[in-house]
Amino acid sequence: MKTLNDFNFENKKALIRVDFNVPLNDDFEVTDATRIVSAKSTIIKVLEDGGSCILMSHLGRPKGVQDEFSLKHIVNKVEDVFGVEVKFVENCVGDEAEKAAEALNPGEILLLENLRFHEEEKQGDVGFAEALSKLGDIYVNDAFGTAHRAHASTTVVAQFFPEHKCFGHLLAKEIESIKKVMESGEKPVLAVLGGAKVSSKITIIENILDKVDHLIIGGGMTFTFIKAQGGQVGDSICEDDKIDLALDILKQAEAKNVTIHLPVDVLAANAFSNDAETQVMDVNKIPNGWQGLDAGPQSKVNFHNVVMACKTILWNGPLGVFEMETFASGTIALGDSIAEATSAGAFSLVGGGDSVAAVKQFGFENKVSYVSTGGGAMLESLEGKTLPGIAAILD
Ligand code: AMP
Repeated sequence: MKTLNDFNFENKKALIRVDFNVPLNDDFEVTDATRIVSAKSTIIKVLEDGGSCILMSHLGRPKGVQDEFSLKHIVNKVEDVFGVEVKFVENCVGDEAEKAAEALNPGEILLLENLRFHEEEKQGDVGFAEALSKLGDIYVNDAFGTAHRAHASTTVVAQFFPEHKCFGHLLAKEIESIKKVMESGEKPVLAVLGGAKVSSKITIIENILDKVDHLIIGGGMTFTFIKAQGGQVGDSICEDDKIDLALDILKQAEAKNVTIHLPVDVLAANAFSNDAETQVMDVNKIPNGWQGLDAGPQSKVNFHNVVMACKTILWNGPLGVFEMETFASGTIALGDSIAEATSAGAFSLVGGGDSVAAVKQFGFENKVSYVSTGGGAMLESLEGKTLPGIAAILD
C-alpha cells in the first residue's frame, strides 16, 4: 500500500482529493472545521518536502454552479488551519485552473472550486478526470468520506497516475484502523452494533460474525431479536419481517462461536418523547403502550463487563435514542466503558452513521483509539465491500 511517505514531493505538485465538505452557517462561515484539520498532516508533509498542494473537494449537493456551495467561502478557514496563504481558482478544470496550478511555487496551496459544479464529477467521467489530472504530478487521495464513491476525483483520476498515486495520512489511518478490527485485532474482538433497524445493519452483522468473538446488539435492533426469541416488546420499534432473519443470525452466531449479548432490561417510555413517563423493565416483558428507548441498568453493567474483557472494540450505532437526554445514558455508559477499556490498552474504533455524532456530543472523541471520518464509507467497509477509491490506489 503506497502512502505519502513513499514519495518525496520536492518541486512536485500534489493533486490532493480532500473532504472539505464542511458545515456552513447562514453567513457562510465554517461551523465545524474538523474535516479541514484532519487533512493537516498530509498537507504539511507535502509542503515540508518542498512541494505544493492543489486541493480538490466537493461541498454540499449543488445543482450546477451555485454560489452558496462555492469553496471560496472556506478559504479563510483553510488558511487559519494550515497557517499558509491559500490561493483559490474559480473552476477546478480548464485553462484558468491549469494556469493557477502551473504558477504554484513550492510551499504554496491552491484550492480548486467545488468539483460538483461539474456533473461529470459524480458521473465518474473519464474526460473530466483527465482534465483534473493535468493539474498535478502526484495524485493523493485523502478523502475517506467519499472513498465509497466511484467519482472522477476519488477514483477515475487515479488511472492517470499509474506510478504516482498514494493514500494521504488520513485515508491510510482509516484503512489501518479498519484492518486492525476486521483482520488483525488482538482477541477477544468485540463489535457493538446499535442504532434503529436490523434491516440497515444486516450486511454488517453477517460480515462481522466471521471476525468477532463477541457481539453486543443494542438500540432499536434489540426488539426484533427479543420478539424472535418469544419476548414481549410492546410498542418498541420492531421489524416483524426480519424476525426469521434475526433467528438465523442467532443460529449463525452460535455455529461461529460468537457470543451475542442483548440488553436484559430497558428504560421504557409511554411515548416517544423526552418528557414521557419512564420505567425500567425486563426487556422480554414490555406491555403495550410502552416502548424500550434505552439500555437499562443491568444491561449497562453486563455490557461494561463484556467491553472490559475485550482487546479490540468496534462501535457502530447508539444504544438508545441518545438525541433525547432522557434516553442517552445507555450510550454514554457504553462510551465510558469503551474509554476505560481503551485506557487499559484495548484498541477501539468508532464509526459509521450516527455513532460519530454521539461520540462527539458526549466528548469521547479523544478517549477512543480512532474515530472514523466517513459515515457511509465506514459502513460499506464494515459490510466487507472494497471501496472504489481505495481499490483505485491499490491497482
Ligand atoms: P443508525 O443510523 O441505524 O445507527 O440509527 C441511529 C438512530 O437509532 C438514532 O437516531 C437513535 O435515536 C435510534 N435509536 C436507538 N435506539 C433506539 C430505540 N430503542 N428505539 C428507537 N430508535 C432508536
